Amino acid sequence: MVTVDVELSKCTGCAHCRDVCPVNVFEMQPRERFPGIVDDPAVGAKFQFRAEKSAVINGPDCIMCEACLFECEGECITIVDDEGKTHPSTYK
Ligand code: SF4
Ligand code: SF4
Repeated sequence: MVTVDVELSKCTGCAHCRDVCPVNVFEMQPRERFPGIVDDPAVGAKFQFRAEKSAVINGPDCIMCEACLFECEGECITIVDDEGKTHPSTYK
C-alpha cells in the first residue's frame, strides 16, 4: 500500500498538493487542527505560512503520479510506494 506523509512543520499551506492531486489525497484544514506544530523558520525565510495546512485524508488512493512532489514548496511531502521505496518532494 502506498503511504503519503506531510511534515506539518514545513507545510506552508500553499495548497499546491490539493490542487494538483488527481485523486484527492489532500485536504486543506485550519492550522488550529494541528496543535503543537511549530512552523519551520528555514521554510518561513523563503515562503509565507498561510492559515491552513495540508491533511492527508486519502493516502491509499495515491497513484504515484508525483505531481505533488514537484509542486510542494515546503518540500514536506514524502511518499512510500508499494515496494517500500521512499519518494521525497523536489520543489524547483
Ligand atoms: S503522487 Fe499524485 S496521486 Fe499521489 S498524492 Fe501526489 S499528486 Fe496525489
Ligand atoms: S504543497 Fe506542500 S507546502 Fe503546500 S500545502 Fe501541500 S504539503 Fe503544504
